Amino acid sequence: MTNKISSIINGTRLFERLMELAKIGKKGDTGVERLVLSSEDDKAQELVTSWMEEAGMSVRVDHFGNLIGRKEGRDKNLPTVMIGSHIDTVPNGGRFDGTIGVLGGIEVVQTLKEANVVHDNPIEVVAFCDEEGTRFADGFFGSRGMIGHVESKDLEAKDENGLSREEALASFREGIDVQRRDESIRKPDDVKLFLEMHIEQGPFLEKRDLPVGIVEGIAGPVWGKVQKIGEAGHAGTVPMNMRRDPLAGAAEVIASIEAICKQDTTGTLVGTVGKIEAHPGGRNVIPDSVEFSLDLRDVDLQKRENALNRIEESIASICKDRGLTGILERTLSIDPVLCSGQIIESLQEGSSSLGLEAPLMISGAGHDAMFMEKITRMGMVFVRCKNGISHNPAEWAEKEDIVAGTALLYEVIRRNI
Ligand SMILES: [Zn+2]
Repeated sequence: MTNKISSIINGTRLFERLMELAKIGKKGDTGVERLVLSSEDDKAQELVTSWMEEAGMSVRVDHFGNLIGRKEGRDKNLPTVMIGSHIDTVPNGGRFDGTIGVLGGIEVVQTLKEANVVHDNPIEVVAFCDEEGTRFADGFFGSRGMIGHVESKDLEAKDENGLSREEALASFREGIDVQRRDESIRKPDDVKLFLEMHIEQGPFLEKRDLPVGIVEGIAGPVWGKVQKIGEAGHAGTVPMNMRRDPLAGAAEVIASIEAICKQDTTGTLVGTVGKIEAHPGGRNVIPDSVEFSLDLRDVDLQKRENALNRIEESIASICKDRGLTGILERTLSIDPVLCSGQIIESLQEGSSSLGLEAPLMISGAGHDAMFMEKITRMGMVFVRCKNGISHNPAEWAEKEDIVAGTALLYEVIRRNI
């Protein structure tokens, strides 16, 4: 870490806060389980509120459950410069996913306050509600809400105890009235830019031995469900040449999905089959149908769609050869998002002024920033994490790397207020 970075950012305070926040919902030695709108989430919001206040911000919770700290500038009418991420976790998650973006943002504001920096624009730090989406089946609730993309089905979604998201919000903190949500939707004129710092959750930076990277774009996923129908039969009596076995056909399709994705020379296209189910599911029964998932991502929408077409062709031809019926159904489709060229430039200026080598990279995972891009110029900073592990108690990021990312945020914020 350069001296310049350690003289700007109070790394000890930042890291101590990260470890203190990790005690709320602590699981085992290093795990954290802080499901959204739970009592742990409530306690975490309370603690983060106290740090926001210490950094000179006034704090509120909006009608989507987003925790927002705000420090006014000289002109209240100027658009807000916003930094944000999330403090909810997946079950048995880690200490750094989301939290470094929120606490790093608070550190930026506290640093500005302590350096007596006079600024014109207001600054806000946001801890978005329900980024992870594990409790109510779909995530990014707070950021989708903030840009006006929440529908009544999002409010009706239920957790495993049958409690709806609307009910959970109503009993969270002082009670969140999501029916008043229109009041919390932000307009493009109201937000000057949005920045998110996040652990990389992949091996790119570690492989290059670099602490931080600048994100160029976020790959959008398309999710599909593939169903293959064949004919059930006795494993002992149906000869091999008379079978219409959908599971053997699925195996061939899955291998072809891998081959199609591996042909992409840029390495940004990734395809995964993570779940498969055979019916009726007996060890001595040839299945009559098989269903498996598909997750396909790229930062280039056209490339992703071409790959999906090729997968569809492959399913059709394998099914034809084997006398099976195959159906690919698209269940979710999110377009890839590009970060703002101006923000990328600003991040590059910031990193060179700090003496940091920060490569351009893409994000394979979705983030709240992806939605904020719909209303404002968006940029992201990635911080190296150990072995690329995330959503796991083994998640780890070095203090120096988090401090470097935070210094970079600080440089860009300072240039834009
Ligand atoms: Zn995250």
